[in-house]
Amino acid sequence: MKKIGIDIGGMSIKSGLVDENMNIIHSYNIPTEVEKGFGVISQNIIKMIYDLLSQANCAIEDVDAIGIGIPGVADENGKVHYAPNLFWTNVDLGGVLREEFKNIKISIDNDATIACVAEHKIGSIKDVKNAIMLTLGTGVGGGIIINGMRYSGNLGIGSEIGHMIVGENYYSCSCGNNGCLETFCSASAVQSYARKLAAETDEETVLKSVRPGSITAKMVFESAVNGDEVSKKVVDRFVYYLSIGIANLINIFSPEVIVIGGGLVGAYDSYIDRLYEEVKSKIMFKNLPFAKIVPATLGNDAGIIGAAML
Ligand SMILES: [Zn+2]
Repeated sequence: MKKIGIDIGGMSIKSGLVDENMNIIHSYNIPTEVEKGFGVISQNIIKMIYDLLSQANCAIEDVDAIGIGIPGVADENGKVHYAPNLFWTNVDLGGVLREEFKNIKISIDNDATIACVAEHKIGSIKDVKNAIMLTLGTGVGGGIIINGMRYSGNLGIGSEIGHMIVGENYYSCSCGNNGCLETFCSASAVQSYARKLAAETDEETVLKSVRPGSITAKMVFESAVNGDEVSKKVVDRFVYYLSIGIANLINIFSPEVIVIGGGLVGAYDSYIDRLYEEVKSKIMFKNLPFAKIVPATLGNDAGIIGAAML
């Protein structure tokens, strides 16, 4: 039997048909269109599942499970309590899907936690006893493995690493607090700060050569590598706050490995050396070995594979 894994992000919804060996046979993405709200998005997900199956020439009868990762908190019945970046509160995604796919097991869990579980089963932290994953995407998600087991804490709502408060910021987080790691180190945070600097600076910068709305995190990291001073300032700030977050995690958990996943792992090579040095300067036991920081090996597929494993 095959499984379907779905990864709902702030920008896109990724789906994949997965075989028994956790290989993605076929994948298909659609834009999330957050502004359309839960009613439309949940129907788009149903259509997406049928489109995925027809593109892969697979019958729905050959699928026994659909797993979904959401950027938020869901209970064991698939009710999403809270997904701030989707603007969802208490929506019954599990119920809507069960209504349509009656004989298929439907499971929903936090996206970063399941990406972390996928990396732990078959990816970058396979067989590692204590590890932490940060997913740097539209938001910042977190997954924690302690003694080989996922850890989500009481009520399953822990490991929200993105909402660790690491400083004061010029805008507030979607969770309502100010200074969350997510507002410094997500793709949207990089984008927002780049737009702010581009608007304020007198310096020449490639960030001024495009409309503010078209500045992307990818563009910022690339132009920083190419020597653009304003882009470098944006990346410096990203590295600085990410190093605070990671140093805090190392001081508390002392994991063997910290995995970086999500969209910003694409620029990993351009910031890892500096990140490592800045983390080292902030941890408590500077003279002892500390966590390796590695990129997620399943890349963007971790969300799909982890969801299919639910
Ligand atoms: Zn927050």
